[in-house]
Amino acid sequence: MAAITLVRFILLALLSVLGYCQIQTPPTNVTSGFVRHPILGETQITWYYSGDYVVYDGDVVYGTIADFTRDLINVTYTNNNENNTSVYRREFSPQKRSNSIFQGTSGIWPAGQINYRYADSTTESLFSTFVQQAIAEWEGNVPCLKWNQKPTGSDTAGGVSTTTIQYAPGQGYCAASIGFSSGGDAMLLDNGCGRAEILHEWGHILGLYHEHKRPDANGFLQFVCQNLQDYPFGFTPAVADATCCGASACCGFACQFTPQFGTYYNQLGPANGGAFDFDSVMLYRRDAFAAPGKFTLTNGPNSYQNPQHLSPGDIARVQQLYGCIAPTCPNGCNPLSNTCSFPTAQDCIYPSPNIPNPRAACACRAGYKAAAADDDTTKHWRLPAPEGSFRVWVAEGVPCDTLCDFPWGVNSCQEVTELGAECLHT
Ligand SMILES: [Zn+2]
Repeated sequence: MAAITLVRFILLALLSVLGYCQIQTPPTNVTSGFVRHPILGETQITWYYSGDYVVYDGDVVYGTIADFTRDLINVTYTNNNENNTSVYRREFSPQKRSNSIFQGTSGIWPAGQINYRYADSTTESLFSTFVQQAIAEWEGNVPCLKWNQKPTGSDTAGGVSTTTIQYAPGQGYCAASIGFSSGGDAMLLDNGCGRAEILHEWGHILGLYHEHKRPDANGFLQFVCQNLQDYPFGFTPAVADATCCGASACCGFACQFTPQFGTYYNQLGPANGGAFDFDSVMLYRRDAFAAPGKFTLTNGPNSYQNPQHLSPGDIARVQQLYGCIAPTCPNGCNPLSNTCSFPTAQDCIYPSPNIPNPRAACACRAGYKAAAADDDTTKHWRLPAPEGSFRVWVAEGVPCDTLCDFPWGVNSCQEVTELGAECLHT
C-alpha cells in the first residue's frame, strides 16, 4: 500500500513538473447523453461527476449535480454498457464560429471585473502562485479585464458573484465553469494544475470554449477516434466506429472532440473570431485522452505539455468578447459622390460641420435606425453632434427604416452604439 502511495506521489510529482494535460487521470463513470444546455441548447455531451459538480467536455464544469439533473434529457451511453441502445446525435447546420459565449449576454463578467476567491487556505497555499501567474498573463494582455480577489473562505460579502477556486484532490484534472454565472463559478484544481492549465481554465471562466470543438475544426484538426483510451467503448470496433466515432453519433471520450455545430455565435468583426488557432490555449494537446503512445489530435499541439501562453488569437477573441477594442470610426460618406441609401437616409451631411476636417455620414430621420444589431457600428451608429446624440447615422448604401425602441425626442435611439467625438472628424 505504501509502495502504491509512493508511486502515485511520484507520478503526481512528475505530472506537476511536466504540466500534464488538463486531464491527468482518466475519469471513470463516463456517461454520454443529451442535455438541454442553457447556452448550447440541446446537445450531446459526455460527463462525469466530481464531488458536488458535474464536469463535461473534459474539463468544463457544467454546474452542480442539481443543475445538471434539471437539464438532463436522456442517457445514450455509459462505460459499463447500460443504456447503450439509443446512441444518436442531433444534426446541426454548421456555422462559422466564434468559439465563445455570446457577446453582451449574462455570461460576460460585468464590466470585465472577475471576482475570485480561494475556498480555503489549503487551496490558496497550493495554487495561489500559479493562479496569480495566470491572472497576470491575462491582465497583461487584456488590460480592460480586472481580477479582484475576495477573502478566502465562504462568501461572507454576499451578493457578489465570484469564481471559487477549490482543491479537488484525486479528481485527476483541472476544470472550470464557462462564463459568468450569477450563482458563482467554480474552478476545481488537482495536483498538477499549473500556470498553463489555469490559464486555460480562466479562458473557460471568461467564456471561451475549446478550439477543437469549433464547427470548422474538422477542416483543420485530424482527430483519430480509434486512438482514444476508451475505444472501442465496450463494443466491437465496427459498432464503435459506427455509433461512437461516426459523423452523426458519439459516445465516451469521443463526444469531447466532436465539433459543436450550430450553437456558436457568428461574431461580428474580423474573420468570425479568427482562423483556426493551433496556438490557442483552448486547444487540447495531441495526446489528449489518447491510449498510451497514441495521438488523438495527430496534428495538434505538442504532446508533452499544454500550450504555455496565450496566443494572439486568444487575446483578440477575449478583447472582442469583452468589448475591449474601441470601435473604429466608420468611413462615413462622401458628399461629392453620395451613395447614401435612398429614400430613408439619402442625405450625406456633416454631423458637426464647423470643426476642422469634418467627417460626413448618411443621416437617418430622427427616431429611425438600420435593421442591424444595435452595436454593429459598421452599419449604424450615433455621434455626440452639436444637435445632440439622438440621431442615428448609417453607412453608405444602408437603409434606415427601422423604428428605434424609443423614437421620440432627445432620448431616442439610445440602444444604438454612440461613438466618440473623434469620429466627428477625419
Ligand atoms: Zn478546457
